[in-house]
Amino acid sequence: MNSEFLSKLEHLFYINDISQYATHEIAEKLHAMLVRLQEVNSYMNLTAIREEDGILVKHIADSLKIAPFIPKNAKILDVGCGGGFPSLPLAIARPDISVTSLDSTEKKVNYVGETAKLLGLSNLTTLCGRAEDLAHDPALRERFDTVTARAVASLPVLCELCLPFVACGGQFVAMKSGEVQEELAASAGGIKRLGASPFEIHAFSLVSHENGIAPEGRTILVAKKTAHTPSAYPRAYAKIKKAPLK
Ligand code: SAH
Repeated sequence: MNSEFLSKLEHLFYINDISQYATHEIAEKLHAMLVRLQEVNSYMNLTAIREEDGILVKHIADSLKIAPFIPKNAKILDVGCGGGFPSLPLAIARPDISVTSLDSTEKKVNYVGETAKLLGLSNLTTLCGRAEDLAHDPALRERFDTVTARAVASLPVLCELCLPFVACGGQFVAMKSGEVQEELAASAGGIKRLGASPFEIHAFSLVSHENGIAPEGRTILVAKKTAHTPSAYPRAYAKIKKAPLK
C-alpha cells in the first residue's frame, strides 16, 4: 500500500461518515483484499466492478456502512457472501466480531476463505450450502447475533432465508439499493410470521471520491428478532420464490 492509497481511502471514508475505519492497519488489509480481488476476478467471475475506485466505493465503503450497526463481539452471518461483501471488509475493520461467510457456490466460498487466510483474519470462517437448508441445522439455527445479506434476493425472500438464523434478541440487517418501499410493504406480514419486529429504515447516500460521480441511494434495514421462527421456515427455495410470505 502506498500513501496515495491511504489518502484516497481516508477521504472516501470521511465523506461517507465511516472515518473511524480509516486506520493504517485496516487500510493495509483492505488494499491487500482489493489487489487479490482484482487478480482473481481476471479469471473467476466474482464481481462486475473491476476498477479500483469502483471497488473502493461500491464494495468496500458500502460494506462498512453497516459496521456501526453491529454490536461489540457479535457473531455475524453473511448470507450469499459472493466475492466477500460485506464479509471481508467487516472482518477486517471489526476484529472484535466473528464472521461466518455463507454461499451456495463453492468456488466463491473458497475464494473468501483463502483471502481471509492470506490476510491473517482469524475472525472469519466459511460455510458452503443453501441458506434454506442450513437454516434447519440446529447448530446454525437462531445462533447469530446479526445476520446480513447484500444483493441476494428480494426482501420477502431474504427475510425467510435470513431470519431463521437470527437468535432471539438479535437482528437482521438487510442492505438494499434503490427504491425499497414496495419490498418493505411486501415483507411486512412475513417478517412478523418469522418472529421479527418491523424494519427500522436507515437511508443514506453512497458518495464517490471521484469527481462527477453522482451519489447513489442506499438503505440499511434493521429488524429485531423478538420471537422464535416457526420450524416450517425456511421452506424449499422454489416455494419461497413462488409464494413469498405475505
Ligand atoms: N453479497 C455479495 C454477493 C451478491 S451475489 C455482494 O454483495 O457482492 C448473490 C450471491 O448469493 C451469489 O454468490 C449466490 O451464490 C448467493 N446465493 C443466492 N441464493 C442463495 C441461497 N439460497 N443460499 C446461499 N447462497 C445463495
